[in-house]
Amino acid sequence: HDPTAPPIDPVFVDALKTYFGHSKFRPMQWKIVSSVLKDRRDNCVIMATGYGKSLCYQFPSVFTGGTTLVVSPLISLMEDQVLSLQVANISACFLGSAQSEMREVKQKLLAGEYRVVYLTPEISAHELMIEKGRALGIPLDQRLCPLGCNLIENEFHFLLQCPKFGEIRTRITLVAIDEAHCVSQWGHDFRSAYRTLGSLRNILPSVPFMALTATATPEVQSDIIRSLALKNPLVTCTSFDRPNLYLEVRMKSGNIQHDLMPFLKETKQFHYEFDGPTIIYCPTKKATSNVGAVLKSMGVKAEIYHAGLSLQQRNNAHHKFVRDEIQCIVATVAFGMGIDKPDVRKIIHYGAPRDIESYYQEIGRAGRDGLPSECYAIFAPADFQTNRFFLNDITNSNFREHKARMMTKMKQYLNIIECRRRALLLHFESKKSSLTGSDLCCDVCRKKWRKQNGNRGGVFDDDKCSERDFSKELDLLLQAVSITGQRFGLAVPIYFLRGSTNQKLYERHRKHKDFGSGKHHSEKWWKAFGHMAIMDDMLKEIPVQQGYGSTVEISAKGRNWFSAPTAYKLTPNQELLNCEK
Ligand code: ADP
Repeated sequence: HDPTAPPIDPVFVDALKTYFGHSKFRPMQWKIVSSVLKDRRDNCVIMATGYGKSLCYQFPSVFTGGTTLVVSPLISLMEDQVLSLQVANISACFLGSAQSEMREVKQKLLAGEYRVVYLTPEISAHELMIEKGRALGIPLDQRLCPLGCNLIENEFHFLLQCPKFGEIRTRITLVAIDEAHCVSQWGHDFRSAYRTLGSLRNILPSVPFMALTATATPEVQSDIIRSLALKNPLVTCTSFDRPNLYLEVRMKSGNIQHDLMPFLKETKQFHYEFDGPTIIYCPTKKATSNVGAVLKSMGVKAEIYHAGLSLQQRNNAHHKFVRDEIQCIVATVAFGMGIDKPDVRKIIHYGAPRDIESYYQEIGRAGRDGLPSECYAIFAPADFQTNRFFLNDITNSNFREHKARMMTKMKQYLNIIECRRRALLLHFESKKSSLTGSDLCCDVCRKKWRKQNGNRGGVFDDDKCSERDFSKELDLLLQAVSITGQRFGLAVPIYFLRGSTNQKLYERHRKHKDFGSGKHHSEKWWKAFGHMAIMDDMLKEIPVQQGYGSTVEISAKGRNWFSAPTAYKLTPNQELLNCEK
């Protein structure tokens, strides 16, 4: 139990058992619930997926017999929640159901029969427009909202326009803003209607507000508190560790079937399946089609999902996946929020994940039931060219730079030969002490464990894995970058090192005394080493404006080293070790 939480009166635990069927609150749940019930305090709840956020906002009104208004971005999610509350005999509704049901919903609402009322942010945004219109004396039928819908038909409008609203108002125990990261342009699911929610406060000044999200980044957290105008909120943040997720990184071979085969088992001749529900994330729509086609040709029940498909096609794929009619969704990042499937056993990124924040969010969809699940990232260094291209879509320059840094962190993550779980967590949590790590939590730890337990050799051979002096190689690479004019990516300097006949090299390059001086290593090896030098700030990657790819220059650090070379000790990364296998 959380030692900082107030003591629990048994009546609360009894209610928890009666209504929710749980024998105790999870650490932090009680602290949050009691701050609402006893202190009527605002809350900002940042909880890892699967921890139990819903209970935090459902319990207070169920216990008091009041009503919690829940603003949530996805209708399908709300419908599921309403259904599961109803199954537990807790009266709940979604404002915005089919019109035919609305009359009854409204009557029950006025009678105070609902403990939990769900609505979309757009509905409450409409309401704010009505309030404004009323203040300005605009006739009702002319108060059209910016989203173009007729306010008169709006349900929330009805709620607050009703003469009995004063009465309802006193019955509202809590306003919960679920998926609150949607308020932030720094989040992954920005939704403009969320921006207006702060003003809900004016309508309900004395009701506690609770913002909830699973997004860990500090920028998003402060944005939430500011935009929703939370007053002295109790901020609760669980650990972001997901010990039931195993993490592994592999390199692409260039052949989809070959790369995915290890995750499939043969059911009958030429028919394959995954050993549990699986999401495969691809960087582009085209890649989803390619991977989807390969899987279907192998008899795997799979559907693709991306923003280019119709809403109906997407819903169809989603529903089939949730109902286990298909085993695998091959999707772009568009398949995200609202995937309420607790038993996703595998998340495979086929192609480098975009950035470390998105990656954490995407693998968070695995193993929400707490059972062991696996996350694989299968990549080729060239994938980052595609990913860099997406950065151009971000208009806010601060945010774009932030995402570029997060992309670099992703590259580091893919290439490290330390515990991946620790590396991922250190990005979100600075306190190292909370990380225990296990021998088998990621591919790196597993290999180390195997080695310690007698299985010597492989890439974790001591000699190969430890720090080496790369001064000769760095010298050659920096020279090659300099000779070829610092105008290209890594490819051209590497052609030079390898003595290639590629047309991008000029005659004077070919006649240079150092032409071909790096022939003793493969092209792949030099690329891997180039990536290490970029990570180590010896080389600087400069994105080409509005374009694909980037050029490579010698950094200030690189120039210093070049003018007085000393030993250059580095631990080889995974990509380089793979080239040496
Ligand atoms: P989140 O929204 O944080 O991802 P949910 O609210 O969907 O998580 O809850 C995840 C699971 O945890 C649900 O199956 C829920 O029933 C369960 N759960 C929540 N609170 C408790 C508790 N106190 N004891 C046992 N199970 C709980």
